[in-house]
Amino acid sequence: MIYQRVALIGLGLIASSMAHAMRAHGLAGEIVGHARSVETRAVARDLFCDRVCETAAEAVKGADLVVLAVPVGAMGEIAAEIGPHLKPGAVVTDVGSVKQAVVDAVAPHIPPGVHFIPGHPLAGTEYSGPRSGFATLFQNRWWLLTPLPETDPVEIARLRKLLEAMGANVDEMDVARHDLVLAVVSHTPHLIAYTMVGVADHMRRVSQQEVIKYSASGFRDFTRIAASDPTMWRDVFLTNKDAVLDILGRFAEELFTLQRAIRMGDGEHLHAYFTRTRAIRRGIIEAGQDTAAPDFGRSAPAKEG
Ligand code: NAP
Repeated sequence: MIYQRVALIGLGLIASSMAHAMRAHGLAGEIVGHARSVETRAVARDLFCDRVCETAAEAVKGADLVVLAVPVGAMGEIAAEIGPHLKPGAVVTDVGSVKQAVVDAVAPHIPPGVHFIPGHPLAGTEYSGPRSGFATLFQNRWWLLTPLPETDPVEIARLRKLLEAMGANVDEMDVARHDLVLAVVSHTPHLIAYTMVGVADHMRRVSQQEVIKYSASGFRDFTRIAASDPTMWRDVFLTNKDAVLDILGRFAEELFTLQRAIRMGDGEHLHAYFTRTRAIRRGIIEAGQDTAAPDFGRSAPAKEG
């Protein structure tokens, strides 16, 4: 056991997966949960929480580890509520997909003597809610911690031990760096997927039936990503605005270059470009972050979030 009492605030995909993983490996003495709806709390009590509470303030009382697993836009409000009820010496972490906005919203509410260690598991699926979690979600996935310079290394090491025991590979990163890297590898690709699915939806010359019937040719992966939780992704774009706009600007420039190459019949440019991008895909497979299987690992539910 690594923490005696763990409080999960928000009981969706990430929190329920953490609870299943902690239970599977005996990592927590007691798992207490809170979510805003009665329905979610009831499901959590049945499936993975030892106890659920009607308020977040009540749930964190006496907890050694508090995990904020609500959408990024709700973190500040929750932190303000729980701040006065945190146990001295407790660790507070979060799993939000954006880090600077969470640090700005949460840190002011953390009392002295409580350790705040922001984090982000790069693991997820397009499903959400308390029934969607599973114990192996974090297996061989990265979990980035963005501790502030003054954070106690002993507490970082303890949290790291918990995450590694749940199967994750842990890295530490600076907050701003995290938001830029995630804008490249996750946030902007999601926006592009949303856009492509939107384009297909608006097309009049290709019928809906044709889009669905022949979707295996690349489009299916876009629809899977574009099915991700709307609240979570709205908050990601509203809170990682600068980094996403930076990457989107570069994306638009590259897109224009490719558009021009197609218009001008510049096959050499297209071939050289696609050769470079192919090498990146190979690098991802070599790093063990995806499979070379012809179904692109679609049978494995994990993807970054
Ligand atoms: P989810 O499945 O949609 O669950 C969200 C949970 O938060 C629900 O239990 C919801 O309660 C609760 N909640 C929302 N607003 C609340 C509020 N104001 N007060 C109390 N509870 C509230 O979400 P998730 O996918 O687990 O994501 C949680 C966090 O993890 C987000 O910050 C997200 O950015 C991050 N993350 C997600 C992924 C991914 O791929 N899904 C990956 C990495 C990180 P109700 O059910 O009662 O509404």
